[in-house]
Amino acid sequence: MSKVNREEILSILDKYDKEDITIATLGSHTSLHILNGAKKEGFKTAVVCEKGREIPYQRYKVADEYIIVDKFSDIVNEEVQDQLKAMNSIIIPHGSFVAYAGLDKIENDFYVPMFGNRDILRWEAERDLERKLMLDSGIRMPYKYENADEIDRAVMVKFPGARGGKGYFVASSTEEFNQKIQSMLERNWIVEEDVPQAHIEEYVSGTNFCIHYFYSVINDEVEMLGMDSRFESNIDGLVRIPAKDQLDIGLDPSYVITGNHPVVIRESLLPQVFDIGDKLVDAAKKLVKPGMNGPFCLQTMCTDNLEIVTFEMSARTDGGTNTFMNGSAYSYLLFGEEMSMGQRIAREIKNAIKTDQLEDLIT
Ligand code: ADP
Repeated sequence: MSKVNREEILSILDKYDKEDITIATLGSHTSLHILNGAKKEGFKTAVVCEKGREIPYQRYKVADEYIIVDKFSDIVNEEVQDQLKAMNSIIIPHGSFVAYAGLDKIENDFYVPMFGNRDILRWEAERDLERKLMLDSGIRMPYKYENADEIDRAVMVKFPGARGGKGYFVASSTEEFNQKIQSMLERNWIVEEDVPQAHIEEYVSGTNFCIHYFYSVINDEVEMLGMDSRFESNIDGLVRIPAKDQLDIGLDPSYVITGNHPVVIRESLLPQVFDIGDKLVDAAKKLVKPGMNGPFCLQTMCTDNLEIVTFEMSARTDGGTNTFMNGSAYSYLLFGEEMSMGQRIAREIKNAIKTDQLEDLIT
C-alpha cells in the first residue's frame, strides 16, 4: 500500500487549472504514442528525458516541454516533481518509468498526480503477487513447480525482475535444469543469489499473443484495443536454422525481447479474449482497490487445442502497444479512427475533465 497520501494528491490536483493540463511521462518505452495521443486530444505534453535520449521526441515532435535530467531515475527528484506540478502535469506510468523511478519511490515519495492505480504496479512487478491476482481471477495459467526435483515435463525457468527474458531457459528434467543453471552462471546471465529464486513453470507450447486492454473506469467497460506478438532473440533466430543443425551450433535459446509485431487472433477466440480480460478486472477490483484503471496487458500462449494460457500481465501500458501507434484493427472497430493506447488514455482524461470525474482516474 503506498504511503503517498491520497488527500495530498487530490489537493494538488484540485489546484491544477483543468483547462491547462499537461500530459507527462518519462522519455522511453511507450512515450511516443502517449505524448502523440495526448497532443491529438488537445493536451500540452512534457517529457522527462535523460540527456542524449531526447532525439526521438524532437524528431517526432511529440513533446512541448523537455525536462532534461542526468539520469532517468532523477524523475523522482524534488525539483523535477516541482517542475511537473507547476505545469499541471498528470504522469502516465509505463514499464521504464516504473523501472527507473523505482516502486518504493513511486509509492512513497512521488507526489505528482498519476493516471491509473499506483498500488497495482507492485502487483505486476512481484511474481507472487502477480500470480495471486491472476489465480484469483480464475484465468488459466501455466502450472508452477515448487521444486526443481519435481520437473516431469518441459518447463520454462525464469528469474526475478524485468530482464527482458535474459537468462531464461527451457529444461525437461532436473539434470538438465542443473546443467543449464551452471551454464547461465558461467555466462554471468544470472548470479548465485538468483538460483534459489528460480521460478519454474510448465512450458506452454503455442503461439504468442500479448493482448492490450483498456479498462475505462468512466464507462465501466473493458476494451480490447490491440494485440502483438514478441520478437525474441535468439529463439526467433534459432528457428531459422534447420532442426538438424540447431543442436550442432552450440547456442542455448534465449528470450530477449528485441521488437514486436502486430497480430490479430482467430475471430472464434475473441470470446475467450474478452472473458480473461473481464476476469482480471473483476479480481483486481477486489484485491487492489480501486482495481485496474486504464491500460493492462495479458501475455499469453494459445495452444493447439485453442486454449489461451496467460503467463504474465502488465498493469500499465505494455511495450507491445507500440505496434498500434496509428491504431489497430481492433481499436479501429471500436472507435472508427486510428486510436493508439496513448490517445485512449488521453481521451479518458479528457472525458473525465468534462464530467468532473478526474479524481476517479488519478492516484
Ligand atoms: P519477461 O517479462 O521477463 O520478458 P516473460 O515472462 O514475458 O519474461 O517471458 C519471456 C518470453 O518467454 C515470452 O515472451 C515467451 O516467448 C516465453 N515464455 C514465457 N513463459 C512461457 C511459458 N510458460 N511457456 C512457453 N513460453 C514462455
